[in-house]
Amino acid sequence: MTVTETPLLAERMSWIEESPSSRVADRVRAFQAAGKPVLPLTIGEPDFDTPEHVKEAAIAAIRAGETKYTSATGTPALQTAIRARLARKTGQSYGPGEIALGGGAKQLIFLAFLATLDAGDEVIVPAPHWVSYPDMVALNGGRPVLVGAGADTGYKLTPGLLRGAVTDRTKWLVLNTPNNPTGAVYSRDELAGLAEVLREHSRISVLCDEIYDEINFGTEPVPSLVSVAPDLRERIFLANGVSKAYAMTGWRIGYAAGPATLCAAISTLQSQSSSCPSSISQAAAAAALDGDQSFITETVAVYAERRDLLVSGLAAIDGLRPVRPDGGFYVWTDASRLIGAITPGGRRIATDADLAEHFLETSGVVVITGESYGCPGHFRASFALDSETIRKAVSGLASAVSALRFA
Ligand code: PMP
Repeated sequence: MTVTETPLLAERMSWIEESPSSRVADRVRAFQAAGKPVLPLTIGEPDFDTPEHVKEAAIAAIRAGETKYTSATGTPALQTAIRARLARKTGQSYGPGEIALGGGAKQLIFLAFLATLDAGDEVIVPAPHWVSYPDMVALNGGRPVLVGAGADTGYKLTPGLLRGAVTDRTKWLVLNTPNNPTGAVYSRDELAGLAEVLREHSRISVLCDEIYDEINFGTEPVPSLVSVAPDLRERIFLANGVSKAYAMTGWRIGYAAGPATLCAAISTLQSQSSSCPSSISQAAAAAALDGDQSFITETVAVYAERRDLLVSGLAAIDGLRPVRPDGGFYVWTDASRLIGAITPGGRRIATDADLAEHFLETSGVVVITGESYGCPGHFRASFALDSETIRKAVSGLASAVSALRFA
């Protein structure tokens, strides 16, 4: 669809594409409709149910009549719960004016760009990156500057790479830790190295997307840039939410902490667009953040077992090099050695998309291509799935790969 064919739509709609995950979901539905079994390693949300006490809090809120608009910055109970959680995580005390609330971290990241980008402002996005950042930047008039961070740096941005990408138009650096899709977690030292470069450039702010920080396989909590470099606090926008940690993707609550001017601007945008996130979801989110945290410990133990199952299964397949994730629920896999191979039907695998199609056709296994994350030659496989499905998917991938010939 082009804008000239559809005069109704604004020009900006020609810059963005449907997200790769929805495209894949359509393909999966078509397969299922044709009666073919699929093993979707594409799942981007916890497969656990929301904890019982969280659901109860939502039901109690409905019964108590907490069913009206709230302030754009949320109910006092949620505000308090968010500030307490931020203090536990970062060691920083954020005031009420330094918090923003949204319909998911996704909306807050979008609004942060809307509130800050002028035409031509640059946003440094280390790749592999979450699919939405570049489109969000472009939609809001900015220019995404993708900086490839490969296997040699553990798929992480280094001070050298950052320094090389900064220009006098750089407004933001996006830092996603734990990273989607790679599962990479920046250590305190790595963050300190980046902070050194940021101190040389006082105009640059950092959007820290920490949505996966509770799904952490390390022995220490995932470090936050603001804890490592509290002197940069006024330039750090920390985005988080309850979606991943508490299996609450459908409740749509995200929160952020950052400079009061930016949080106020986001609240203004909220007040003119959505007013506020659902009052009922806010009650649920407050219960999640404030209540018993054993759900996190229990689910992370399950994720850890599945991670090992998927990583060891993929590592045993000749031609695949999976990266063991330190956080999140995805395994990022280097499949570049399979590019150029020939399928049993005589087709040449020229791209990640060809490879993904071969997996789907031969074994019903669905993965998301590395291209979608700005890093071809790879794919992302989720382990937010039961072990049995993971086992079947690994064996499907093994037979799909062994069916390939090399010219
Ligand atoms: N950031 C990243 C890296 C994500 O993977 C996601 C969800 N897929 C989000 C943000 C958005 O999460 P939320 O549900 O809070 O909008």
